[in-house]
Amino acid sequence: MAESTIISNTANLQKYLQLPQKGKTIAEYVWIDGSNGVRSKCKTLDKKVESLDDLSEWNFDGSSTGQAPGNNSDVYLRPVAYYPDPFRLGDNVLVMCETWMSDGKPNAYNFRHDAAVLMDANKKHEFWFGLEQEYTLLDFHGWPYGWPKNGFPAPQGPYYCGVGTGKVFCRDIVEAHYKACLYAGIQISGTNAEVMPAQWEFQVGPCQGIDLGDQLWMARFLLHRVAEEFGAKITFAPKPIPGDWNGAGLHTNVSTKETREDGGMKAIEAAMEKLAERQADHMAVYGEDNQSRMTGAHETSSFDKFTWGVANRGSSVRIPRQVAADGKGYFEDRRPASNADPYQITGIIVETMCGKVEG
Ligand code: ADP
Ligand code: MN
Ligand code: MN
Ligand code: MN
Ligand code: MN
Repeated sequence: MAESTIISNTANLQKYLQLPQKGKTIAEYVWIDGSNGVRSKCKTLDKKVESLDDLSEWNFDGSSTGQAPGNNSDVYLRPVAYYPDPFRLGDNVLVMCETWMSDGKPNAYNFRHDAAVLMDANKKHEFWFGLEQEYTLLDFHGWPYGWPKNGFPAPQGPYYCGVGTGKVFCRDIVEAHYKACLYAGIQISGTNAEVMPAQWEFQVGPCQGIDLGDQLWMARFLLHRVAEEFGAKITFAPKPIPGDWNGAGLHTNVSTKETREDGGMKAIEAAMEKLAERQADHMAVYGEDNQSRMTGAHETSSFDKFTWGVANRGSSVRIPRQVAADGKGYFEDRRPASNADPYQITGIIVETMCGKVEG
């Protein structure tokens, strides 16, 4: 990168990262803030983390993250999952947390709580989810990384799964993120360059129930954190550049014990009928500004109308051709925008397919 916008010097950092920690463990607590972002802070533990019980509840100043008023600002962090830390290595961990208020209620941005209640009540269906996270890399000034200053690259065509100079941007960041995810134990299932230059995708899954949301949020944290070292910004905006440039989605692949069994196509069709009845409810939680992406063009469907079809990338839900041939498997909900919350997406899918649960 030509500009002097990289403010961290990771080469110098290396020798300090290798210093022994004298038996101490660093736990980086990660949570979701009030503006669809992630925040984190760390603390020293006296011993290695062997189970969630070794990670105590903690708190932060919610008035500084848009999550609480100044006169009652303590928000509590409750650890729900932890992963090996690919930055600090050793026994150090990254800790995914839920946010809770002092009155014993989940924080307004804690969408995990309701989703976990739904997942738990429907354990017998063995929900699996695999999400395709699209995102765009921006330079320090907020313009897509590698695009001409004050201008546009050549029209879309050569970039999707592109190889070669001018066809692909920031492969270094994508590779670094992939390895960081694998090290952390995230079930990242692949990655590809997208249709718009500087836009990429990674997939997480299949993961069971609530685990998908935990892993996807941690993978987002890792992406922001890795890109920081390269001086790039990540945006999950559904339509980062207006006009003839593809938007970014979060295709959600779904299966249950019933859809995966022989003859599972019947269960998939039953799910389609239920999804069709709740189009507006789903769109309400499928990401902000999704209207600007779901124009019916650029491999999207209509915002208002539910449709489904085999191998059809212009419908709300696509049944992969192989699934139709096998008569069982999974379906792909193509509606969610890249900035949607995976807890809300997977939660409402379970609710629509299996019914409401009192939480
Ligand atoms: P696309 O062809 O739409 O680009 P991808 O290969 O990017 O598909 O992603 C497919 C996703 O589907 C992966 O995240 C994978 O984990 C997920 N997946 C595969 N099988 C299942 C299944 N049975 N249930 C849920 N998700 C699945
Ligand atoms: Mn302080
Ligand atoms: Mn994909
Ligand atoms: Mn894609
Ligand atoms: Mn897809």
